[in-house]
Amino acid sequence: MELKTEEPKNWTNQRIKQEQIDKYLSNGNNFIDPENINALIEKTKNPDKATILNILEKSMRIQTLSALDAACLLNVTDPDLWDLMRQTALKVKKKVYDNRIVTFAPLYLGNACVNNCLYCAFRKDNHTNQRKILSLSEIEKEVRVLCGQIGHKRLVVVYGEHPITDIDYMVESVKTIYGIREKTAKGIGQIRRVNVNAAPLSIEELKRLHEVGIGTYQVFQETYHPQTYKNVHPENTLKSNYNWRLYAMHRAMEAGIDDVGLGVLFGLYDWKFEIMGLLSHNRELEKKFGVGAHTISFPRIEPADNTPLTENLEYKVLDEDFKKIITVLRLAVPHTGLIITARENAEIRKQAIALGITQTDASTKIAIGSYSDKTENQQGQRQQFILGDTRSLEELINEYIQMGYITSFCTAGYRCGRTGECIMDMLRSGKEGKFCKLNAVLTFQEWVDDFATEQTRTKAEEIIAKEIQEIKQTLPDIFEQFMDYYNRVKNGERDLYF
Ligand code: SAM
Ligand code: SF4
Repeated sequence: MELKTEEPKNWTNQRIKQEQIDKYLSNGNNFIDPENINALIEKTKNPDKATILNILEKSMRIQTLSALDAACLLNVTDPDLWDLMRQTALKVKKKVYDNRIVTFAPLYLGNACVNNCLYCAFRKDNHTNQRKILSLSEIEKEVRVLCGQIGHKRLVVVYGEHPITDIDYMVESVKTIYGIREKTAKGIGQIRRVNVNAAPLSIEELKRLHEVGIGTYQVFQETYHPQTYKNVHPENTLKSNYNWRLYAMHRAMEAGIDDVGLGVLFGLYDWKFEIMGLLSHNRELEKKFGVGAHTISFPRIEPADNTPLTENLEYKVLDEDFKKIITVLRLAVPHTGLIITARENAEIRKQAIALGITQTDASTKIAIGSYSDKTENQQGQRQQFILGDTRSLEELINEYIQMGYITSFCTAGYRCGRTGECIMDMLRSGKEGKFCKLNAVLTFQEWVDDFATEQTRTKAEEIIAKEIQEIKQTLPDIFEQFMDYYNRVKNGERDLYF
């Protein structure tokens, strides 16, 4: 595939399909009602203990909370009640996800962008940012390192919004990634799930992404507050269209992609308002399509090269509030995956795991091309922001083992049709947990055999032995087949799953 070198005429003007916004509006309005959100936050000030206990029971029953319930939780001020909420959040997570933590790596494919988001180093007017788009052979080099040397099986690929990295490039890059096989110590390394973080696309374009088998499609709204959205996304840019972005997931669902990822960029506006907006979005998807977000992300704005907005934030989210955000989300959408990335430092990431996080990245590099090019400057002018946690996958795995967690590389769900509404029902009822546990052990064993140092192997095998005992006791019917798969994995077979 030839990379496009120049912007086709009128590319930007033709991007937004107004009819693919209008069809979802109700009497010309979208589903975010700032006045109603503010009124709910106001009305639920100082909730009493009995109300909160009642809400926590609903979370323990793995129910999505109402807007009113979520607002009550956000308004708790009593430190003892927050303690109880944190403990309940962890119980909810254990009930749905047990002791598994899913791991992935981000792969930035290009940093050219036609937008001018004031918080992002990739914005068009940031002339100190060095632009680079990976060619398909450069992508291949990156992926060989990720799946052949580090041991990742899941990626999220990230694109700026630009004609050079348009839908043709996206499709070809995803196909390239899925096609790569790399010999490892005992088997074959391969990326089995490619999630996509990209600009809003049209239904026709999303169908093409669905056809190449992407996992989750993520678009973060950044801020649900319309005026703030306007302030940070200059007029006459594609991204300034709030509704085109807001309905990106509606279009994805219509195109057949039912694993979608929502997110807020925290630090742009009041965090309580943003959570209420995010939860409205989730409820809207549940109402219209029977399934809400597969994952939710909540990046905080990090310093970025030559990007003054990131250094002077009126709504900067402090660590204590950040932990409250995670706690409330875990309680409000008990079965939804929660992602924390290496934007955050190691200590916060560790604390966040105990509040309900289910997915983290590891060995993260975000300078374009820097997995394979070790000279690429991580602090430099080819990345979007500065990372907080640069630990390797092996270091993270060791930390998780110490905490009693097993690292899962499972990608079975979407390949067996366990996506969207189906997987959410299974998570609610605890059925998915059964498959996940088996697949977590199988994929973790793959990683241990292919990539672990001796020291890590010993510790990892202790936790695997414990998991196998648990499987024997809790899933006797399937144990024999599981052990057959397990022994085959030990002998070098790869990608066996339930
Ligand atoms: N260009 C696409 C878009 O804007 O949707 C997708 C890729 S963008 C590189 C991915 C996300 O990075 C954005 O949605 C935003 O939330 C986040 N981001 C941008 N600047 C950031 C910063 N300074 N610190 C932390 N996250 C940032
Ligand atoms: Fe471009 Fe996305 Fe950065 Fe905005 S956040 S400037 S759209 S890469």
